Amino acid sequence: MERLKRAQELCRGAGLTDEMFIENMVMVYLGVRSLSLVSLPAELPGGDIIGRKIDIMYRESLRKIEERTSLSKVGLAIRTMGMSSIQRKRFLLRQAYHETLRETHAYRSLFEAAAALDMSYLPFEVRPSIQEVYFCRAQDSREQLLRLVQSRVMIRQEAWARATADTPYWLLAYPEEHEPDFMRRLGKLLGYPDCCVSSYVKERLSGKNVERRAARQLTLATKEGGFSPWAFFVKHFFPCRPDCAAAVRQGETARVALGMVCSGLAEEYARTRYARIGQVLVGPDEVADHLRNLQQLEPPAASPE
Ligand SMILES: [Zn+2]
Repeated sequence: MERLKRAQELCRGAGLTDEMFIENMVMVYLGVRSLSLVSLPAELPGGDIIGRKIDIMYRESLRKIEERTSLSKVGLAIRTMGMSSIQRKRFLLRQAYHETLRETHAYRSLFEAAAALDMSYLPFEVRPSIQEVYFCRAQDSREQLLRLVQSRVMIRQEAWARATADTPYWLLAYPEEHEPDFMRRLGKLLGYPDCCVSSYVKERLSGKNVERRAARQLTLATKEGGFSPWAFFVKHFFPCRPDCAAAVRQGETARVALGMVCSGLAEEYARTRYARIGQVLVGPDEVADHLRNLQQLEPPAASPE
């Protein structure tokens, strides 16, 4: 309990939400799920502002190097010599990401909270300015996580090697979402029920928009009944149906486990299930915005490096 308190103080002190703390730290710490996944900088408080800071820093570095106007950028200019234009842009964007996040209190606190709970983490670069960080308990899931991340790297390398000028952008942004075996393994570790993962994979493969399907189902269910807030048991997860029994079980298991360590955490978890339902109802537009932002921010790249 002392560890949880310390971790919660760190998160709250940095403006990280209790929802984020519960889903990504406490549920993993209590063994309700083996793994959690946080997208950075988007999920930090003020994530969009952090994203803009990264963009400004990147553009400034690029301009100074290209115009050769800054002595302070001489080191960068030397390090990026011999790189193609795209490689240089990706290098500078990655550098801007790391410099900006190092100075971000919430970013540092997230990892301090993980350390207070003796949790392991593994960052994964989705794009030079976007990382996904996996959190797991140090003693068990680390090996599985390492194998999973290795698979993810391979899938992305193969997708980029196959890419042509006609390959749609979204396929290169998240090629692993079209690999059923990878998605099943990841889903299992994240605590997602098999039926929901199967639906998700089938829809992604056939080009259907899962977010839109979930919003449609939920809109109908809120009018006619037939949904449970517990089915939406963590962010990023879409149940196969708004009343999927396996997903409801996961949510209820989480509520009971949280209640056993702290009634306040269980109450907050229950409250945020309704907030999650609101997110699913408006979700499709947000996903479209996110992809649009990605396309604007990132230089068009012919390869991941
Ligand atoms: Zn299901």
